[in-house]
Amino acid sequence: MAGKPHTIRMDGRDNVAIVANDGGLAAGTRLESGLVLLDRVPQGHKVALVDIAAGAPVLRYGVAIGYAAEPLAAGRWVHEKLLAMPAAASLEGLPMATAPRPPAEPLEGYTFEGYRNPDGSVGTRNLLAITQTVQCVAGVTAFAVQRIREELLPKYPNVDGVVALEHGYGCGVAIDAPDAKVPIRTVRNLSLNPNFGGEVMVVSLGCEKLQPQRLMPPGSIPVAVQGQSAELDVVCLQDEKHVGFQSMVESIVRQAEAHLVRLDARRRETVPASELVVGVQCGGSDAFSGVTANPAVGFCTDLLVRAGASVMFSEVTEVRDGIAQLTARAATPEVAEAMVREMAWYDAYLERGAVDRSANTTPGNKAGGLANIVEKAMGSIVKSGSSTISRVVAPGERLAGRGLAYCATPASDFICGTLQMAAGMNLHVFTTGRGTPYGLAAVPVIKVATRTDLARRWHDLMDLNAGTIADGTATIEDVGWELFRLMLEVASGRRQTWAERWKLHNALVLFNPAPVT
Ligand code: CA
Repeated sequence: MAGKPHTIRMDGRDNVAIVANDGGLAAGTRLESGLVLLDRVPQGHKVALVDIAAGAPVLRYGVAIGYAAEPLAAGRWVHEKLLAMPAAASLEGLPMATAPRPPAEPLEGYTFEGYRNPDGSVGTRNLLAITQTVQCVAGVTAFAVQRIREELLPKYPNVDGVVALEHGYGCGVAIDAPDAKVPIRTVRNLSLNPNFGGEVMVVSLGCEKLQPQRLMPPGSIPVAVQGQSAELDVVCLQDEKHVGFQSMVESIVRQAEAHLVRLDARRRETVPASELVVGVQCGGSDAFSGVTANPAVGFCTDLLVRAGASVMFSEVTEVRDGIAQLTARAATPEVAEAMVREMAWYDAYLERGAVDRSANTTPGNKAGGLANIVEKAMGSIVKSGSSTISRVVAPGERLAGRGLAYCATPASDFICGTLQMAAGMNLHVFTTGRGTPYGLAAVPVIKVATRTDLARRWHDLMDLNAGTIADGTATIEDVGWELFRLMLEVASGRRQTWAERWKLHNALVLFNPAPVT
């Protein structure tokens, strides 16, 4: 937006505002309030609204995002080097489930067209997944998948595609270390994602540490999910019956066909919006993330919760500084305690690497106006909306139950997406300010731009523009509803996301806090 100088202040207590104009504002610009800029202030960056004394708090979102490193005169550009970061909030003495929200008015009558699965979950896509026990089999599986696409998929038009669940785990790892349970259960639960129709097929090398029976112990796949047989369907490359590479490929292609036949017999049916399992995250954030896209996602999160759906928010280091408001919103003290447990575990994990939560921010975040992790977190946390937090999902675990859940994952886009997929998401919402072409092969990703400038330049990558909120042409509620309706269209397969159209897929990246050998 060019022309009239435009700044945005988030809270009545704030002593800084951000510049909304494309290209920023020049020194000497007079704002509507009469304040004259002393420096050039780039778009998304902060300007001091009043004189701020050295050591005084700099307030955005009504909280101290830092302390002035020197006296800051009104009109100055308040950039990262002028802010000292506050210490992390203590995990002791937090308000535990003191402010769960009263149940909101149910939102009824919204539906989408989905694939009902034998275990009761609902898919938004109908895909054959091929699980791998170890990275060693990735090349052979990829070769076989190419043949399945070319030779078999045309015969099974109701199947949307075939996905190899490639990952870097399985061998050369300390598999008995306590934290190894995280990557192992992640691979297991990835194969049970609702978009795979309950069909589980495994490719194994034979000599790896993560044996198929360890990955999928008896009982881990309910018979109802596995279709006709409770027996795990495994192709083992080192099996003596395989003579040469082509015979391995033949086995994979042949065994895949049995699953394709069953998947192809499925049809979409009308299901309530409560069957959505949505994972929300952000990446390539800027100062607008917390002004436009994330508040719109937060509004939509509340709509989804009212509709009885499941929504997961994540990214430990981006919510750590807002822990007090999260524990207060927990449904029960047990949920609040689980949240604190996950945060404490992560604090220790970071400490082991001689860093803290401030390691999160990127050069792009800073160029986009985010001074530090506290400011980033305040903008990130609003994706969770205002609903009561009903449950906590540990990394790699499967979500059980509806409502708003905190799924404890790293903020890394690929790892967060992988863990939310393992938790069972059937739709992903991703907000970005700097821009990322992020996508997943197995779950549709709706990308929301925080700025009109990005939405315009990346017109064939961004699915929704929340920049209209900063432009003043739409409200948070307008964009929140638009996103809600778009989700139902995408979930129904009536609309593809840009990442789906271009087939842009990031790798699945496991979170492995345990040692490798
Ligand atoms: Ca992220």
